[in-house]
Amino acid sequence: MSLIILGSVAFDALETPFGKTDKIVGGAASYAALAASYCYDQVKIIGVVGEDFGENNLSKFSKHHIDITGIQIKQGEKSFFWSGKYHNDMNSRDTLITELNVLADFDPIIPPSYQDANYILLGNLSPQVQLKALERLDKRPQLVVLDTMNFWMDIALDDLKNILKQVDVLTINDEEARQLSGQYSLVKAAEVILRLGPSYLIIKKGEHGALLFGENRIFSAPALPLAEVFDPTGAGDTFAGGFIGYLAHVNATDFDSMKAAVIYGSALASFCVEKFGTERLENLTKQEINERIESFSQLTAFTI
Ligand code: AMP
Repeated sequence: MSLIILGSVAFDALETPFGKTDKIVGGAASYAALAASYCYDQVKIIGVVGEDFGENNLSKFSKHHIDITGIQIKQGEKSFFWSGKYHNDMNSRDTLITELNVLADFDPIIPPSYQDANYILLGNLSPQVQLKALERLDKRPQLVVLDTMNFWMDIALDDLKNILKQVDVLTINDEEARQLSGQYSLVKAAEVILRLGPSYLIIKKGEHGALLFGENRIFSAPALPLAEVFDPTGAGDTFAGGFIGYLAHVNATDFDSMKAAVIYGSALASFCVEKFGTERLENLTKQEINERIESFSQLTAFTI
């Protein structure tokens, strides 16, 4: 029994109204795996880095008992590099640089020790690579979660629609849900998207929380109102990692378990944005997480 997380493992350079960073560890799989490791102890990454990534950066995962056998290290090549700058509202950002480097011809290899996986997060990467990874598993995991972004809807929509037929849960943000469905209303968008294949859809709405659709039900989760958002990078990946990590921990995939998983993912994402990059996610305690989950339940508890 294990949980595979596929996605970019990267260097990011970030700029927010609070400051700037040089190259720091980023990537969808990095955020998701660190988040999942707080709920589940059998987390395994599939990804690729260049020689420049270095042992000290890989040790960030090992410290969290995350299996990195599936991270290919390409000698003489450079890691994926992404740079972004946030606007003052912190909701919108401009991508300044995307250097694919090792991601340009990434061919995911599944180590034999990963073949027992019963949960998989196909994190943000090209839909063709996501499909290859899924097809290379000897048995289909019990739960397949896919996270993607508008970039792939723009340049690889057919491939994305193809893999969506094999996915149980899709996580995207509100703008992406509108783009994928052609519907402005998120309820109508969900109806359209659920007909494309996934049984469940999660629409992430940033500081306005998240919506879970499936089984003809809707669950609405708040986001914790935070006084200061320092760096929103990776919040969506952290959410997805916390979501699937919780489900792997309870080993359940029904709607009510997914409701709790959405809260878990939201709580971890609320930590992620408190510091630059993965810094906050690297040093959380169980007590901090439990207190934050308690804050979520206080936020919405009421009697009539
Ligand atoms: P998010 O803030 O959830 O959109 O995720 C940000 C992370 O996604 C950063 O750490 C980047 O390294 C990574 N990223 C940005 N663009 C891509 C891309 N085209 N493919 C894979 N990962 C990406």
